[in-house]
Amino acid sequence: MVYSLTWLPDVLEAAGLKVAECTGWRTRGRGDVGTIRGVICHHTAGAQQGVMPSLNTLINGRAATAQTKPLTGLLAQLGLARDGTYFVVAAGRANHAGAGRWQGIESGNTSFIGIEAENTGINEPWTEVQLDAYCRGVAAILKHIGASENMVCGHKEFALPQGRKVDPTLDMDTFREKVGQILRGKAQLRPSIPSSDSSGRATLRRGAKGELVRQVQFTIGITKDGYFGPNTEATVREFQRHHALVPDGIVGPKTWSELLKISATPTAQSKTAPAVIEGKFKPDQACIDLIKKYESCKLTAYPDPGSGGEPWTIGWGSTGPDINKETKWTQEECDQRFDSDLIHYGNQVVALLGSAETSAAQFGALTSFAYNAGLHALEESTLLRKHKAGNFEGAAEEFARWIYGSGKKLPGLIRRREEEASLYRSGKIE
Ligand SMILES: [Zn+2]
Repeated sequence: MVYSLTWLPDVLEAAGLKVAECTGWRTRGRGDVGTIRGVICHHTAGAQQGVMPSLNTLINGRAATAQTKPLTGLLAQLGLARDGTYFVVAAGRANHAGAGRWQGIESGNTSFIGIEAENTGINEPWTEVQLDAYCRGVAAILKHIGASENMVCGHKEFALPQGRKVDPTLDMDTFREKVGQILRGKAQLRPSIPSSDSSGRATLRRGAKGELVRQVQFTIGITKDGYFGPNTEATVREFQRHHALVPDGIVGPKTWSELLKISATPTAQSKTAPAVIEGKFKPDQACIDLIKKYESCKLTAYPDPGSGGEPWTIGWGSTGPDINKETKWTQEECDQRFDSDLIHYGNQVVALLGSAETSAAQFGALTSFAYNAGLHALEESTLLRKHKAGNFEGAAEEFARWIYGSGKKLPGLIRRREEEASLYRSGKIE
């Protein structure tokens, strides 16, 4: 059954907070809550690494260790990650309060929402972004239930006998003061997710429309209708989980950065791509030779020349979530990755070609082009349009237009495009 606290994500989102809903949260609970009167703040006392390493424990509890008693699962309705994201864990009753009293109310689990904020509890300073989200989230909940800041307390204040709990490691009087300022509209708030990334790409969320949405949809392999609806949001979350991002379904700067890597290296397979048809569509030796001639192979990761950092690149120009500044590969590993990347590229190019008649040489030339300029560039190009229309000479001439890097003509690109055009022309279709 669906429990009562289904309003949590909307209320938090309306306060400008990042929210990630955990699968099955609406029907999760140890029964339902009663009338909610306030909020009890906790810290997880969890691991030091990661944004929300305790998430699984919040849901499932944990077994006893030598030092600790076992914890029976569902330990809070909300988990607050170190980066300020709220994970919505449950809409029902959670086991978070234990015996205690606050403002005369003793039924902790029934009357209070529990928020477990990720913090080791051992001298870990609270980051500004997490603390800000903590106060804002609590204020939003209190406003929703019509309560004042006096209705938020720390677990250490609620728990009886006194001293039974030490969490959270926050000065709760200061915390309440800040919550009160927010409730009265007097707080200085830090800005939430930036509205665009450093290149000016807008942050996209549910309801957004237009060309950027189409670009996202293309990259994650769903129908490009240009509307950021529930399906787009769900697929973005899936993408984010896959790339170790916070699965909030919002395409902000960090998600953009990962998406842009993928649109240049389609190791994340597009759902519209056909299955790997090795042999028939594997780019041939002429294509492989052409690409390897213009990409050098590096055994240690190097930064992107544009950003000086992400995305880190290694081998034959490979990038991906598994590659960072520490990555070192053997020549064999580089070659293996190149082979598998090339098959993925080949398949994506096949998908773009559809039923258009294409020779092996043309296919090789287009794959080399896509490997370098990106699949998105190929997809939107006049080159592809002319090819699909059977205007092969017109298509061959198009290669020469793609010779710019950072607004300048690059000699390496001029030569590469000449060779691609020449390979393309070598495979005539009668
Ligand atoms: Zn606690």
